[in-house]
Amino acid sequence: MSTVDLPLLPLGRGRDLESERGVECPGDLPSPSDPDLVARARAAKEALGERVFVLGHHYQRDEVIEFADVTGDSFKLARDAAARPEAEFIVFCGVHFMAESADILTGEHQQVVLPDLAAGCSMADMARLAQVEDAWDALEAAGVADSVVPVTYMNSSADIKAFVGRHDGTVCTSSNAETALEWAFGQKPDAKVLFLPDQHLGRNTAVLQMGFSLDECVVWNPHLPDGGLTREELAGARMILWRGHCSVHGRFSPAVVDELRATIPGVQILVHPECVHEVVLKADLVGSTEFIIKTIEAAPAGTSWAIGTELNLVKRLAAAHPDKRIAFLDKNVCYCSTMNRIDLPHFVWAMESLVAGTVANRIEVDPDTTHWARVALQRMLDLPGRSHRD
Ligand code: SF4
Repeated sequence: MSTVDLPLLPLGRGRDLESERGVECPGDLPSPSDPDLVARARAAKEALGERVFVLGHHYQRDEVIEFADVTGDSFKLARDAAARPEAEFIVFCGVHFMAESADILTGEHQQVVLPDLAAGCSMADMARLAQVEDAWDALEAAGVADSVVPVTYMNSSADIKAFVGRHDGTVCTSSNAETALEWAFGQKPDAKVLFLPDQHLGRNTAVLQMGFSLDECVVWNPHLPDGGLTREELAGARMILWRGHCSVHGRFSPAVVDELRATIPGVQILVHPECVHEVVLKADLVGSTEFIIKTIEAAPAGTSWAIGTELNLVKRLAAAHPDKRIAFLDKNVCYCSTMNRIDLPHFVWAMESLVAGTVANRIEVDPDTTHWARVALQRMLDLPGRSHRD
């Protein structure tokens, strides 16, 4: 197995087009202290009219969400974009893999723009194509690849989705992970699943929803020869979990859950399945971003909640529901730093560039990758029942 060089890139510096990591933002950004930023954003949006469709992920800053035509999770936004073929430009206020998915699902006449190319995703970056190809070679050498069905979380780069498409696998979201795993285990006798890139979503789904034991889940470490696993461990595993995680959801700890239960009477703990297994075990409710929003909307006045997901969303939920007590499940401020790269200056810059006739920061997935990623996405869309949201 070859090891893949992963030099650290400070956000917004350097250039690495093969990964989710940042590149320089070209052009002159407006100053963050420009008092006319809001007026400039409004003017640009008005000038572009129906030609532009602005998507805002739930984890985006308020200053950006204000200009979104629709808000949602990554898969809903990609589908919303696909449902607006009249929009020439899709401005995606989210992170790189989401803009890629929008490009994959929209028409060839539509161009997807990411206002800051440094808005990557640390989780998606933890599974790079060369690493996954190495892992597959090692699984073949160990004699288990024939029984392995790869499943990737929506939060992965387009080339990982395409890899999964080529190897008869599917994509999943945090809402349909159980259905996707049931499908995968039904594809072959004695099937094993290679779950990319979020070990926590894979483990939480397999153990808590499908009844697998923790011993049946092994972790593939791409930085170790043969993933750090013996042939016996691979042979005995049902879930081969890629060693990736979300740097935001991975911060929540069981100790803070205990502390909040001790200090807030009757508090209910509501977390995303990207949280570590020990936190999910202690939670009252676990579900996707959309599930978290709907749960709070439906909660009776006077109830108390501690929420384990991205802070921008938790703060918006607290502001929208002053009749409920809503706390953040971490003692420290914990935004997704890459989501936060999209700020008002970058948004204004991207929109004004479009008005001036320049498509800045276009995200374009090559035709072969698009084809195979679509194959994997279509298998997900063909899964029975369930909504497809992360
Ligand atoms: S919250 Fe986590 S998974 Fe989502 S974009 Fe940020 S790092 Fe990636």
